Amino acid sequence: MPVFDFKCQECGFKFDTMVSNRQKDEVKCPNCGAAKLQQLLSAFSSPKAGGMPDSCAGCKTGGSGG
Ligand SMILES: [Zn+2]
Repeated sequence: MPVFDFKCQECGFKFDTMVSNRQKDEVKCPNCGAAKLQQLLSAFSSPKAGGMPDSCAGCKTGGSGG
C-alpha cells in the first residue's frame, strides 16, 4: 500500500500513514482525532539531485511594474 502524507487542519499535526487509495478518505488525525485532513503531495524527486534548474512557473520576467 502507498504511504500518504497528511496534515491535520485542526491541530496542524503532520503524519504519514499507509493506507489504500480508498481508505485515505477515512483517515483521522492520530493527535486530535479530527477528520479534516489535508493530503500533502509526496515528493517523488530527490531533494538534492543537482542539475535541474527550478523553473519559476509563477514568476514572469519583463512585466510592467511589480
Ligand atoms: Zn489533529
